[in-house]
Amino acid sequence: MPKKIPLRQCVGCREMKPKKELIRVVKSPEGEVSLDFKGKKPGRGAYVCPDLECLKRARKARALERAFSAPMPDGVYDALEEQMKEGGDG
Ligand SMILES: [Zn+2]
Repeated sequence: MPKKIPLRQCVGCREMKPKKELIRVVKSPEGEVSLDFKGKKPGRGAYVCPDLECLKRARKARALERAFSAPMPDGVYDALEEQMKEGGDG
């Protein structure tokens, strides 16, 4: 029997996937939104597939606004796309 795997919903495609296969998007207590490749940053989190398409869908659907109950300037999504292209923040 498989062990119970924690599932999270991608804010882009809205599929439930194992947490480890998703990238955490975190809003820090200071209000800064960034990708959290290691899942260690403090703040409220949402999850997205490591796929630019999912980020784009999230942008269209204003999914992060909903996840964080806060307005997201376009620059936030641009920054997330850049971070995803770079593929890691160290
Ligand atoms: Zn997705």
